[in-house]
Amino acid sequence: MTEVATRKRDVLKLAESQPPLVDTFGRTISYLRLSVTDRCDLRCTYCMPERMTFLPKREVLSLEELYDLATGFIARGVTKIRITGGEPLVRRDIVDLFIALGRHLDGGGLNELTLTTNATQLSGHAEALFKAGVRRVNISLDTLERARFEQLTRRDALPQVLEGIAAAKEAGLSVKLNAVALKGVNEDELPELIAWAHGEGHDVTLIEVMPLGDVEEERLDQYLPLSDVRARLEQRWTLTDSDHHTGGPARYVRVEETGGRLGFITPHTNNFCDGCNRLRVTATGQLFPCLGGGERVDLRAALRSNDPQGQLAAALDKTMQIKPERHHFSMNERGAPPHLPRHMSMTGG
Ligand code: SAM
Ligand code: SF4
Repeated sequence: MTEVATRKRDVLKLAESQPPLVDTFGRTISYLRLSVTDRCDLRCTYCMPERMTFLPKREVLSLEELYDLATGFIARGVTKIRITGGEPLVRRDIVDLFIALGRHLDGGGLNELTLTTNATQLSGHAEALFKAGVRRVNISLDTLERARFEQLTRRDALPQVLEGIAAAKEAGLSVKLNAVALKGVNEDELPELIAWAHGEGHDVTLIEVMPLGDVEEERLDQYLPLSDVRARLEQRWTLTDSDHHTGGPARYVRVEETGGRLGFITPHTNNFCDGCNRLRVTATGQLFPCLGGGERVDLRAALRSNDPQGQLAAALDKTMQIKPERHHFSMNERGAPPHLPRHMSMTGG
């Protein structure tokens, strides 16, 4: 990997000469979600089909390229990077990327390095991630029932996941659990899941299912509006609106009875694009300025050109011109093709 100390100096120097990333709606981009693989060891029914076609490995950026790409963003004012996937921890030697990027946390332009994971492999990585500078981790968990977990992810891996969550806590990582609310699948269990997480000291965020990519099930059958979930939770608990913000799409409440924080990500029932501060890059270096839009910029071509830094800067300038004002997810018609053909596992959510 590029000599990190040298790269750190270069990045700081570049940052002085390059403008920050501001789109045509005046939103400053400070957050990159970087997918390091589209592969996964689970097959969540809302995310991908059992027989998923993965990208040929040769198309995927090397760890060195991912590092160079990330530092190109840091040079343009990105201060937070989330590593995602597919499942980021199935990528071989991925901890090396965390270690290299972690060095930028120490006065090198980065304020936060984090990841989203399904936690199947977390018990073996939690300590190394903490050592690399990771302090918070988002873990996806939709159910605490083993048979239901197997049905939902098509893999019998709940014990491993719970081990991973415990290991994260033990290593000193603060954990936020993300659960997709699914009609008729985990809706009856959401209060127990929240109570358990809050008891363990973890925040929880509920997410509405989004129409990305073909999956085997009908999307409309999966979709559960969080307005309904919230109304039901309010019959049981007191939810007090909180002004906690992470710069992301979640709106938070405090559950008075558990003392824990609960977030709602509601792309359908409530648009969240006004304060969008993020960009997403796939493992092949395709930049998507909007999770719900088809706009795309090829950063791999820039990275592999004769002038990677110049081309990357130009590609980012172009991105600022085309980042749309908002997404237009729609899921109104039964049997309709997905709103976008790409799966969430390409952009990492
Ligand atoms: N494999 C990792 C994980 O599951 O945490 C990281 C990638 S995964 C694509 C990121 C997040 O996207 C997970 O929280 C998952 O539940 C969510 N997700 C996947 N497909 C989704 C969909 N169609 N709608 C809403 N959320 C989705
Ligand atoms: Fe894998 Fe995450 Fe998609 Fe589930 S949501 S199949 S864990 S990438």
